[in-house]
Amino acid sequence: MPSRCIAAFCSNTREDGVSLFRFPKEPELLSKWVKEVRRTREHWKPTPTSVLCSEHFELHCFDFVPVLKESLGYSVQHKRVLLPTAVPTVFPSERLYKMVFIRLLAPIKNFNKYYIYYLIKLLSV
Ligand SMILES: [Zn+2]
Repeated sequence: MPSRCIAAFCSNTREDGVSLFRFPKEPELLSKWVKEVRRTREHWKPTPTSVLCSEHFELHCFDFVPVLKESLGYSVQHKRVLLPTAVPTVFPSERLYKMVFIRLLAPIKNFNKYYIYYLIKLLSV
């Protein structure tokens, strides 16, 4: 069974074009990740196989070198590499998710789901 992102309203797999990241082992960083996930999934507990997808991380959480290389036309094996201190912070509420998805994006064919999170981020500022 493919790994699915555990974030509320997400459940992305690699087939959705995202990267998946295991939860960190370092206790302090782990508790930061869990706290963020619980903003939209109360009482959720991580397991050794829990993963989050790249849509829950802001751009500054990624190593920019692979992104830059790819934009210059080089082939890159792992284009989304998380920085060691990265904390996921993009967890839209159900209300916002539905508002953005249903009203704005669902009518557009072949839209890139990755942009939902950026739109939501803009709306929640
Ligand atoms: Zn996700």
